Amino acid sequence: MTGDAIWQRLSTPCDVLIIGGGITGAAILHEATRRGLHAVLVERGDFASATSSRSSKLVHGGLRYLAEGKIGLTRESVIEREALLHAAPGLVDPMPFLMPHYRGRRPGRLELGIGLALYDLFAGRRTHRYLDSEETQRLAPTIATAELTGAHLYTDATTDDARLVLRLIGHACDGGATALNYTNATSVVRRDGRVVGAEVTDGESNRKTTIPARAVINATGVFATGLRLRPLRGSHLLLPDWRLPLAQAIALKHPADGRPVFAYPWLGATLVGTTDVDHHDALTMEPQISRAELTYLLEALQAQFPRSDLCESDIIATYAGVRPVIDDGQSDPSKAGRDHTVLTEPGMVTITGGKLTTFRPMALAALRACAPMLAPKTFSLDERPIFTPTTLPVSNLSQATRQRLAGRFGPHASTLLAEAREDDTQAIGALPFLWAEVRWSARREHVVHLDDLLLRRTRIGLLARNGGAAFLPRIRAICQEELQWDDLRMASEEAHYKERIALRYGLPA
Ligand SMILES: Cc1cc2nc3c(=O)[nH]c(=O)nc-3n(C[C@H](O)[C@H](O)[C@H](O)COP(=O)(O)OP(=O)(O)OC[C@H]3O[C@@H](n4cnc5c(N)ncnc54)[C@H](O)[C@@H]3O)c2cc1C
Repeated sequence: MTGDAIWQRLSTPCDVLIIGGGITGAAILHEATRRGLHAVLVERGDFASATSSRSSKLVHGGLRYLAEGKIGLTRESVIEREALLHAAPGLVDPMPFLMPHYRGRRPGRLELGIGLALYDLFAGRRTHRYLDSEETQRLAPTIATAELTGAHLYTDATTDDARLVLRLIGHACDGGATALNYTNATSVVRRDGRVVGAEVTDGESNRKTTIPARAVINATGVFATGLRLRPLRGSHLLLPDWRLPLAQAIALKHPADGRPVFAYPWLGATLVGTTDVDHHDALTMEPQISRAELTYLLEALQAQFPRSDLCESDIIATYAGVRPVIDDGQSDPSKAGRDHTVLTEPGMVTITGGKLTTFRPMALAALRACAPMLAPKTFSLDERPIFTPTTLPVSNLSQATRQRLAGRFGPHASTLLAEAREDDTQAIGALPFLWAEVRWSARREHVVHLDDLLLRRTRIGLLARNGGAAFLPRIRAICQEELQWDDLRMASEEAHYKERIALRYGLPA
């Protein structure tokens, strides 16, 4: 359908209009569409461009939350982790975690063992075991060994958060939903005290329209208004895996304050994070790591991997995200609540907070809250598998690549390969992506700017030095062919992208 046809269709009243295209909005769109609702989503930037592409990429119960007595949240998250591992292998994958124990440091062997037993009980399977010091060093030869007594090994999961959002949106659109990126909801429309739709503006063309809706769902995360939110920033570092090769995630205790920091393998690099600090900058500005956070994360690495001699010049990229946390008056940011909140007013539901991991229960909670607004229309709120697992037939691609493609592109993975040119089935340098993915995303995945392609459809911008500048000539050829960008447009996209990489994804000044 052309852009004009889509915009014309927007004037037909929909059942639910979702504002915000992060994981929460995407999950609501997916759940609403497959329950027979006519749903529309508008996102003012690119899909997942805010917090949902900047998380720690963990699909996890959160042992920290268990230690804080948040048993319900941990249990729900572990159940969702298990469901996602089953539904989307290749997009959500198991990750072994090693938690070393040092003499005199908490949590001790018994305390952690009890927590992990509970964690396993929620999952309905045992993943944890205790290792002595020798076994621990065999698994993680570079960790600090002074006072090391052993470690616990257990399993959680990692994902590519932006691709998870895109997969949810993709399924919804295949089922008849409409999702528009770079479309800003400028105000909600009220009639007789009830919200009946929203005014939206296309950020590219400045075209405006009103989308009438029986219910509006505000899923704008940290941008939600009318709630006491405490924006908390978390930042991460990406290092080449050869500088810090890890076979599993390692939980580090920061030497200064004892906070847990994790280092783990992610898409061929080593990801380190996160910090947790109050975010005082304007929310309209893209967040970035501060020098203090960078020093903090490097200190944690230097203490845990003293022989690796890690320093600033090892860092490939950094990124920061802002968490929508409900302000519960806690002075310690790390202890502030991670539960979600649902607020209703006539014609509108606002949902914020929560975690990436728990997107499905959050989406169902939002739909439950707007069900009375949609009456007499009824729909089922039963829990369904998140996705049907996809597999690709055996080919000359490795099993790992086929699984990764199936997880990221779901039912479209086979078409992606069928449409690929012969030389597009090569990997992009040493990155775990094929050129065919870049072409597919440019052709089919609502790419509006170069950032969309390199920071979220693929993660080239985070995983290659200088945002993948070395690959730009071939990326340029693909964009010009698939997106019909002329030389002028391409030059302007590249200039903007390079500036953004330097300012927001590099080392702080
Ligand atoms: C550093 C960090 C690490 C994290 N790590 C994890 C983790 O490992 N595991 C986990 O489970 N959770 C994690 N989380 C939490 C998780 O990332 C968030 O809970 C989740 O991404 C929030 O998603 P969201 O869709 O609610 O918000 P967002 O992703 O921020 O989406 C809201 C969207 O609304 C859009 N928007 C705002 N206003 C408008 C408007 N007027 N019109 C149209 N669109 C609008 C924004 O552009 C934005 O894209 C982490 C969070 C942070 C910050």
